[in-house]
Amino acid sequence: MENKGEIPKPKTKFLKVKCAGCGNEQTIFSNANRDVKCLACNNILAESKGGKVKLKAKVVKEME
Ligand SMILES: [Zn+2]
Repeated sequence: MENKGEIPKPKTKFLKVKCAGCGNEQTIFSNANRDVKCLACNNILAESKGGKVKLKAKVVKEME
């Protein structure tokens, strides 16, 4: 009645993370489809895992 084959959209958000290597803070997208690297030192902040990321860095803040 309410759901007529509608595909729910995956919930995406922006995450502010802090690089463990250099302390740089960077905003990343939770559904990045490629690895996200620190802009300052090239450390990997998040690995892409089939449509969502596996975080390697500490999340400072979540943003919708
Ligand atoms: Zn860094």
